[in-house]
Parts: sequence; structure tokens; C-alpha cells
Amino acid sequence: MNQRRTRLYEGKAKILYEGPEPGTVIVHFKDDATAFNAQKKEVIDGKGVINNRICEFIFTKLNDLGIPTHFIKRLNMREQLVHAVDIIPLEVIVRNVAAGTLSTRLGIEEGTPLPRTLIEFCYKKDELGDPLVSEEHIMAFDWARPQELDDMMTMAIRINDFMSGLFMGIGIKLVDFKLEFGRQYEGDMVRTVLADEISPDSCRLWDIETDEKMDKDRFRRDLGGLVEAYQEVARRLGIMNGNEPVERSKPVLVKSD
Ligand code: 5GP
Repeated sequence: MNQRRTRLYEGKAKILYEGPEPGTVIVHFKDDATAFNAQKKEVIDGKGVINNRICEFIFTKLNDLGIPTHFIKRLNMREQLVHAVDIIPLEVIVRNVAAGTLSTRLGIEEGTPLPRTLIEFCYKKDELGDPLVSEEHIMAFDWARPQELDDMMTMAIRINDFMSGLFMGIGIKLVDFKLEFGRQYEGDMVRTVLADEISPDSCRLWDIETDEKMDKDRFRRDLGGLVEAYQEVARRLGIMNGNEPVERSKPVLVKSD
């Protein structure tokens, strides 16, 4: 797409442009990787292309399951068309296995399965390093309405159920991930939809057999091989080289006579 476009926002890993229709936005996935509140930065060739594909794959499945997302369609290698939303200023973190800041904060060894799925909220504020907050803070400071909080928790659990199964089926453990939600306005109505992205940048994905990291921790922890790991996730999902995953055939009625 070569015509001049209006840039709405540039984030650490994505650029948002005005979309072709009112109420739409184009998301451009960059190759930039950042960590520790952008103190660590690098350009990693090809990361944006893979994340765009993986995100398209997961958001399409979630839309099909009736979980509303901002995703409309992928436009090209690096871009997707989405509904314009007002982002709710919270990161919703879903955890199945102890890792990262949970392990550091509570002294629980990385890799310890959690007794139940945990949902945490962080206030999206770069200057403060996205601090952990409670529902009390969210209500007191009106970052989200009670109904929105309820919608986010319900969707987070459904997304976790779906994604845990999806990754389990391809030999990957879904350790934890981060979600962001937005308010999508339709006339007088407003609804809570999943926004931002789901990709190996926002999830912890470990190989089930070896516990090898297949996510952004490869960059955060200087392990190398980030693109190869992301490619392997895409390959196992069946979406490498533009090949769509084999569609599961419809159930066949077996005659019993
Ligand atoms: P932690 O709190 O352990 O650093 O992160 C928990 C999960 O949320 C990890 O899967 C991590 O990738 C994701 N996450 C937390 N904060 C961010 C963020 O600011 N950006 C991205 N892309 N992912 C995040």
C-alpha cells in the first residue's frame, strides 16, 4: 500500500494508520523488539510478518468461537484491518504456570504449575512500568466499568481454554499471556472486544517435551533464535509459507448395520 496514510499512533511493535472506512484502523506489525519498558531494543528481521500471521490465525478462530475481537482481515504480509476501539488502559495477564514477574514477585520457581489459572491486571502506563493493580484500583479510578471487568474476565478464561487446547495439540505449553481489550462503539452501543494482538510477543510458549522457550523471552533473556522459534510456532500451527492449516473435515456419519 503506497498511498499517503494518516498515522494515528506508533507503539513499540506496531503502527496504527487510519483505515479505509470510518471506524476502521490498519495495524502494521514492525520488526522492532523491545523489553523492560523499551530499555532493551533490537530490530529482528521477519518478526512482524510472523506475528501478523499468527495473530490473524488466533483472532480468526476466536471470532469464529463468538469471542468478539477487533480483527476484520489481514491485508498483506505486515498489516491487518481492525475495528477502531478505545483501548481500556489495562493489561490482562492470564497465567497457567509460574514464570516471569509472578515467579520473581512471589518466589515461586519458574515452571511450577499453578493450582488454578490466575488473572492479573496491570495499569497500562509506560512511565510507571505498567504496575500490577487490583480490581479495587480499577473500580476506584474508573479505568473500567464493572460490566467491562466482568466481560474481560469471562473472555480471558474462554480465550485461555481455547488457546491452551490449541497449543497443547501442537506440543506447546501455554504458560501465560497478556491481553488488551477495547471499547467498540456501534451507534449508541458500546461493547468490549479483544484488541491489540496475540502472538509469541505477548505469550510464554514452551515446548512440551523440552521446555524450550518459543516466545519473546528468547529476546528478553538473550537466548537468540527468536525468529526461528516464532517460525516453528507458525509451522506447527500450519500457517508457514502462506499454507493454511488443513481444514478438519466434517464429521462423517458411520452406518452401523
Ligand atoms: P510478566 O508479567 O511475567 O512479565 O508477563 C506475563 C505475560 O504477559 C508474558 O507472556 C508476557 O509476554 C506478557 N506481557 C506482559 N507485559 C507485556 C507487555 O508490555 N508487552 C507484551 N508484548 N507482553 C507482555
